[in-house]
Amino acid sequence: MNYYSSQITKLIEELSKLPGIGSKSAQRLAFHIINMPEEQVSGLASAILDAKHNIHYCRECFTLTDQELCPICQSEKRNHRVIMVVENTRDLAAYEKTGKYEGVYHVLHGAISPMLGIGPNDIKLKELMHRLQGDVEEVIIATNSSLEGETTAMYLSKLIKPTGIRVTRIASGVPVGGDLEYIDEVTLLRALEGRVEL
Ligand code: ZN
Repeated sequence: MNYYSSQITKLIEELSKLPGIGSKSAQRLAFHIINMPEEQVSGLASAILDAKHNIHYCRECFTLTDQELCPICQSEKRNHRVIMVVENTRDLAAYEKTGKYEGVYHVLHGAISPMLGIGPNDIKLKELMHRLQGDVEEVIIATNSSLEGETTAMYLSKLIKPTGIRVTRIASGVPVGGDLEYIDEVTLLRALEGRVEL
């Protein structure tokens, strides 16, 4: 790619490090950015830096937020006694888009995967167990239906059951191996409504 000037090459290289961006897309994006008005470019650059500097985990549910407590954990309209456990913030966003879930969440930031060497201590599981010492009525396990998601669900239910808290698993209308964020809202709602006791 050295037929471009080194600064363009650098930009293309940086963009191609992003997930899902191959070298062709990176080139297209780089030229698009170069042709954007300076104002827009600096808006984009500062949005990226601001997000990086100000976004951290919610103290309660571990979703990404720029406040100490995310808006969901802060809301009095939500039912704080029902906790839906999801693998990541994107899955939380998918459920929020349905606008029908009234409980709160817990974001694990991953799933247990013996193959990849990801154990219970590598995800926000201790933090969930800590939350369960409070007033909790139900934990809805909404990890993905992949092998890792199912392993995590089983592990969680074994851990939570002795506490006497109701543990449910979203219905498997969700395609196997499906990433929650790509599943449409109707399917998500059906999976939530059809949840089963573990
Ligand atoms: Zn929160």
